[in-house]
Amino acid sequence: MAMVSTSLTPASQLSGHKSAAGSPPLFSGLRRSSKLDSASLSTTQSFFQSVNSHIRICSPSTRPCRGIVAMAGTGKFFVGGNWKCNGTKDSIKQLVSDLNSATLEPDVDVVVGPPFVYIDQVKSSLTDRIEIAAQNSWIGKGGAFTGEISAEQLTDIGCKWVILGHSERRHVIGEDDQFIGKKAAYALGQNLGVIACIGELLEEREAGKTFEVCFKQLKAYADAVPSWDNIVIAYEPVWAIGTGKVASPEQAQEVHVAVRDWLAKNVSAEVASKTRIIYGGSVNAGNSAELAKKEDIDGFLVGGASLKGSDFATIINSVTAKKVAA
Ligand code: PEP
Repeated sequence: MAMVSTSLTPASQLSGHKSAAGSPPLFSGLRRSSKLDSASLSTTQSFFQSVNSHIRICSPSTRPCRGIVAMAGTGKFFVGGNWKCNGTKDSIKQLVSDLNSATLEPDVDVVVGPPFVYIDQVKSSLTDRIEIAAQNSWIGKGGAFTGEISAEQLTDIGCKWVILGHSERRHVIGEDDQFIGKKAAYALGQNLGVIACIGELLEEREAGKTFEVCFKQLKAYADAVPSWDNIVIAYEPVWAIGTGKVASPEQAQEVHVAVRDWLAKNVSAEVASKTRIIYGGSVNAGNSAELAKKEDIDGFLVGGASLKGSDFATIINSVTAKKVAA
């Protein structure tokens, strides 16, 4: 697994919500909880008994789960598949069939983003368990905009989500932060959920500008949108997209913590807590579990590996990695 080694500021310096070294955090569900009474947890055994009675996601096995990894946010795990400009009627039929027959953990929001021309085919054949995202939408109401697709049209054909700010739209097509922010605001106004992508280029990371770039992109969304209720943030370092160079779990976590802190400071503590921050960039069936264990990684946006039903299902089911095996 190739990784880029440039590191950033230690995550511990960025967030006030990390536990002190040496003192184990308390958990409720997948999350650290302030409601559990530490005084009543006098032994390791009683600590885990309490955890077991609070778990929200647990395997149907009769063996209790002994420990779990916290989830910092309060949002449900979210996994999106970005099919990009791939597929034919036949290959998409096969992919839909594989997804329909896959066993998926219940406590995950799952979304796929087919190319526009296949959305109708997917919508009419895919299980309702999985929602549909478009890969782009126009900045405003439809009309004389050749080649564009409006948010109204996406809602009309049953899309629930749209991916905006993807690095390929930013760096290949040339969309800028403000344009993307306005698109997000318009899409939200048409009742689409927005998967709002951010992420730095390799040279920006190497120049120590990762946070600066991500915060600038976040600010453009924040300046434009009326609410964060239907936004999922996808942190996708550009150097990791489609390259096989996945960010290490620590590198991803470091930026996710910084993004959550930015939301807390610049929007609100509530938005910071409930907004899902998902990671994208060469996620696959082999690396998703390690990434999922990180506290501030609330799911994934997946490109290449979402084109294979069984791999995508494995990535979705990596939510279980947030529990430590008994
Ligand atoms: C993406 O395009 O959003 C993406 C993360 O691609 P990949 O998983 O192929 O790197």
